[in-house]
Amino acid sequence: MTHLAHARRVIRRTIVAAACAAVATSRVAAQQRDANLTVPTLIVFVTVDQMRADYFERFLPQLNGGLGRLYRGGAVYMDAHQDHAITETAPGHSVTMSGRFPSHTGIVANALGVGDPRSPMIGGGGTGASPFRFRGTTLTDWIHSKDPRSRALSVSRKDRGAILPIGRSKSNVFWYATDGRFTTSSYYADTLPTWLNEFNAKKIPQTYAGKVWDLLLPAKQYPEPDTVAQENFGNGVAFPHGFPNDPTQAARLFTEFPPMDSLIAQAALAGVNGMRLGAGPQTDVLAVSFSTTDAVGHRFGPDSRELHDQILRLDRYLGIFIDSLYKLRDSSRVAIALTADHGVAPYPELRAAREHKTAERVDVWPVMDRVVARLKAAHVDTNAVVLEEGMVTLDHAALSNGGLSPDSVLNAVVAALRRVTGVSRVDRMRDLTRADTARDAVARRWVHMLPPDTHVEAVLSLAPYAYYQGVDMATHGTPNDYDSHVPEIFYGPWFIPGHYGQRSTVADMAPTLAAVAEVTPTEPIDGRAHLEAIRKPAP
Ligand SMILES: [Zn+2]
Repeated sequence: MTHLAHARRVIRRTIVAAACAAVATSRVAAQQRDANLTVPTLIVFVTVDQMRADYFERFLPQLNGGLGRLYRGGAVYMDAHQDHAITETAPGHSVTMSGRFPSHTGIVANALGVGDPRSPMIGGGGTGASPFRFRGTTLTDWIHSKDPRSRALSVSRKDRGAILPIGRSKSNVFWYATDGRFTTSSYYADTLPTWLNEFNAKKIPQTYAGKVWDLLLPAKQYPEPDTVAQENFGNGVAFPHGFPNDPTQAARLFTEFPPMDSLIAQAALAGVNGMRLGAGPQTDVLAVSFSTTDAVGHRFGPDSRELHDQILRLDRYLGIFIDSLYKLRDSSRVAIALTADHGVAPYPELRAAREHKTAERVDVWPVMDRVVARLKAAHVDTNAVVLEEGMVTLDHAALSNGGLSPDSVLNAVVAALRRVTGVSRVDRMRDLTRADTARDAVARRWVHMLPPDTHVEAVLSLAPYAYYQGVDMATHGTPNDYDSHVPEIFYGPWFIPGHYGQRSTVADMAPTLAAVAEVTPTEPIDGRAHLEAIRKPAP
């Protein structure tokens, strides 16, 4: 960043901070009820899968539901990040309510997330899932250790989206099975609660058989082109998009359609009713993770008309959800937070055409083929050098036994990967720990990513907007800002509304909510409470 740009940014931050301070003073003076501000009986933590922060700005005039309500009336952190390198669903969800980076939650990637065959799903389906890889505690545990009456409910389409915000506690954690039911795994329970069995019996997904997803608003209100050949793997790129005619197939593919998010909201409300969640006097926790934005974003990309329509529909569903929740529970006792597990990058070819640049597709496999050939020649197991999700690991014993020096093998791999087009950098881990992590975001995000016992020796970062060869959907997962930049919003009587310009991480959210619930994290955390956004009770 140039000095001028830096100065401008500092000035902008100062103005925002001053404006927020003014808002704070006037409100504290005006609102006598601050004297009565008491801890929430319900904390609602909303995670939108794959939601970029800029969607709020882009669609704001049309957001008159829940997203608009939270954005206009909440404490909004404009420069918030999932501040780690592998910006995928599992690591992102592990940060949301733990206040800790993946280097401390132990959740490094989706493939090393919640899958657990020892914990089969109730009623069958899938591999089974549990939080056995998750380390440490979450907001739910901190609240529970203060008041054992406190309970948590978590609902998501995805197992990892439901499990990881809660951590290891055997709470009420439910996700969508592809046969149209919500279920849990044997880690949590042997049977489903009555309220969930009753909800499942409605078979709502199956009722969508033969229906279509069409635009919510008149077509002229969508500036995006609808017919883009790159979308949806080249098939069915334009509205309307049909649900399968067969009810079983409609339930299976329901995950790709906007009403999946409505179903999540309805299941969460059924749980609030069924469990009497948030009825007090203790603080309960409701975690809700909406996944369709991720499904639509992958299939159609962040610049598509489909993504636009999905956000408008999520906005409406979330509006109905908040209105319904406020009918069930006193809104002055409900705190709401919203974030995302990661952002997303545009299709490289579409961005390149728009911005008159070259699309970069990265092919690292010729390098790895040469490594494998060298290992074979030395009669060493070809798994002695592994490149996975940008992480290079070595089997030192196997290499040494074959007469290869691990250090020289690693140097050769790092040097060869650095020469691949579209690779921004390849860092040895030992160099990253010495990097200026305050200024070097990519270095910082790798340091925040890897637990010390993972034995990763080097990490590869893609250049901004580059994709790996062969990836034919829009995707995310890099340490670049478009993947890390997410919304961070706090809403409810405890928070001073306004836009906050300072840099923030999603790890700041759990300690902020802990401050409002008047509980203390029971272990060291990485985030810091946003005390500047919290309204203090009048003296
Ligand atoms: Zn995704």
